[in-house]
Amino acid sequence: MPLLTLNAMSDQTSLSSNPTPLLEVNGLTKYFPIKGGILGREVDRVHAVDGVSFHIEAGETLGMVGESGCGKSTTGRCILRLIEPSSGEVKFNGLNVTTMGSDALREIRRDMQIIFQDPFASLNPRMTVEAIIGEALTIHKLTHSTEEYRARIVDLLETVGLNADHMKRFPHEFSGGQRQRIGIARALAVSPKLIVCDEPVSALDVSIQAQVINLLEDLQAKMGLTYLFIAHDLSVVEHISNRVAVMYLGRVVEIASSRELYTQPKHPYTEALLSAVPIPDPTAKKKRIVLTGDVPNPVNRPTGCHFHPRCPKATERCKVEEPQLKTVGLMHQAACHLND
Ligand code: SF4
Repeated sequence: MPLLTLNAMSDQTSLSSNPTPLLEVNGLTKYFPIKGGILGREVDRVHAVDGVSFHIEAGETLGMVGESGCGKSTTGRCILRLIEPSSGEVKFNGLNVTTMGSDALREIRRDMQIIFQDPFASLNPRMTVEAIIGEALTIHKLTHSTEEYRARIVDLLETVGLNADHMKRFPHEFSGGQRQRIGIARALAVSPKLIVCDEPVSALDVSIQAQVINLLEDLQAKMGLTYLFIAHDLSVVEHISNRVAVMYLGRVVEIASSRELYTQPKHPYTEALLSAVPIPDPTAKKKRIVLTGDVPNPVNRPTGCHFHPRCPKATERCKVEEPQLKTVGLMHQAACHLND
């Protein structure tokens, strides 16, 4: 393990093993205005992402989990500027992605790719597999002859467990798992360094989920890829992640190494998510923590700790005082008054 350095960030402290991580996200915020009245003025805001900070080292996988609507997918899209952040900073390899112009952004998107949740919706049904994967090769002028173009596509298909026979087929001719493999091949076409995996297995059967996760792990080992792996439950990210960030209502409420987070969670929300993770031994007993109520409306967020209306450990203090993300262990941070 390399020496640890301490980086001061605007709203949280980050423990980093390198002076310049591959990806740095500082105070990222995304709100969506709600317009009303006859003048269509902004009357309120949906705080989808609210001051999120984290880093990812080269070759690392950061898992990001939380219930639907917690802001994890918006965070992933803001990093690639598929959605423009409202404020905050995203740095890739030390370059500020949030302020760069369109030419530089197009260039850096070769290094940062995304795999979408729904392999049924993310592939153009009218394009052949060859055209889907080859599009980026053409846009970025990555091949210089028809032979090289075809050879590269065959190579990409074989890399993800498909073959040359699949080139002329259309997405509807494939199963869900195969379509996700096509989506992965498309992301790999430009030889990226970072891939945002936005719930890449949520739409797949459990048996297929494991195959796709294994493929992503193999590709990481072979190509030195870095992943932000977004999922809505902890069981999916457990094995693939080096570290895990837990999000609630647009904020990171806990972040730690996988081992530490799964064995010593310091936030009641993480504890509840962990209690829902199935354990392989059917005779082992685990007490399920059932959270009451739904995730609150991100327009009218609860006072104090946003989790307090659902938290089984909430106190009076939690209703009025907002907990900050604080260091609670080695490379472990949590936002809960119980750690004070
Ligand atoms: Fe629960 Fe209070 Fe901790 Fe929030 S600060 S997670 S309400 S105990």
